[in-house]
Amino acid sequence: MRFADRVTRVEPSATLAVSNLASELEADGVDVVDLSVGEPDFDTPENVKQAGKDALDAGETKYAPSNGIPRLREEVAAKLRSDGLDYEAGNVVVTPGAKQALFESFQALVDEGDGVTLLDPAWVSYEAMAKMAGADPSRVDLAPHDFQLEPALDDLADAVTDDTAVLVVNSPSNPTGAVYSRAAMEGVRDLAVEHDVTVISDEIYQHINYGPEHVSLASLDGMFERTVTINGFSKAYSMTGWRLGYLAAPENVVSQVGKVQSHSVSSAATFVQHAGVEAMTNTDDAVDEMVEAFEERRDFLLELFADHGIDMPTPEGAFYAMIPVEEDDEQWCQNALKEAHVATVPGSAFGAPGYARLSYAASKERLEEGVERLADAGFL
Ligand code: PMP
Ligand code: GLU
Repeated sequence: MRFADRVTRVEPSATLAVSNLASELEADGVDVVDLSVGEPDFDTPENVKQAGKDALDAGETKYAPSNGIPRLREEVAAKLRSDGLDYEAGNVVVTPGAKQALFESFQALVDEGDGVTLLDPAWVSYEAMAKMAGADPSRVDLAPHDFQLEPALDDLADAVTDDTAVLVVNSPSNPTGAVYSRAAMEGVRDLAVEHDVTVISDEIYQHINYGPEHVSLASLDGMFERTVTINGFSKAYSMTGWRLGYLAAPENVVSQVGKVQSHSVSSAATFVQHAGVEAMTNTDDAVDEMVEAFEERRDFLLELFADHGIDMPTPEGAFYAMIPVEEDDEQWCQNALKEAHVATVPGSAFGAPGYARLSYAASKERLEEGVERLADAGFL
């Protein structure tokens, strides 16, 4: 059988691949410390689950309007406005997961041969989505700058040209946990305006931030009309399996993206959107508790590694840390899984060879167990 180039030229998601492998080992009875996939270990808040059940009981089981139920689009727009972003409900498309919002944005914005720029290390799916839309992305490496964007602005200026259609910015970042400064974001704005570039700003870890200011690109002068803001429910509200996310953008973008959604997934699940309204309006305490726990675990993990002589830049958001490992990080991760039964994701998958990504959305006991196993098996 012949397969399409745009699909054969991408690899399967490395994050999900490692996590599937870990699940297979677990099914064989192996106790794996799974620090691979980025998934909060907390349950979805009880009131959100109840809202989902109530919606089912109320018969919210039929097709929803393609771009989302009006109440959720309004709540999302209100939340974005309270963050200083000028969106109305008509600027919002509710999607089955932020991943779908990103996929639809790439489909709507990128043509065969267009320039797409990523900031390395970059989350695995951006490159695949850019390639499936026909682009071969260029990459700017933040690793030599402790994963920060501000000191890399000159490199970014070299990479972004009039041929660049899309630049992807993800702060707080998966996989580094870096939160980009206002000056860095203003640098992005200046380049985007100069070269007429659309910026996809993936802010899914916005709430998982341990101190620095969160700067939404669309709030900067000149950026509203050239930004697609991506966010979702998976991380902040521990709702990974509900598959709920959204994008917010100028109405001309919404019209194009809406076509992709209406001809593919139709909409996010109707009762799930009702649970999303509850998550948006009534979970402040639950989110604060989870974020506090993540911060404690980050400090704990960094101390554990420091005890083994491994230092790394302090992640200021999300729940990932990049630890320096051997040059062949793919081999390192495979061996760590096979021999120490600790699952991590190779940095190469994010454009950062020589690192492994650990998700610390796991209990302190499991983090300690994981680091001990790595040390005992000679990996540290
Ligand atoms: N963006 C980033 C940076 C992510 O880490 C994830 C995690 N899956 C997503 C988008 C997509 O999240 P979801 O589809 O679960 O909303
Ligand atoms: N975003 C998470 C991660 O990086 C979940 C898996 C995925 O969707 O890639 O691990």
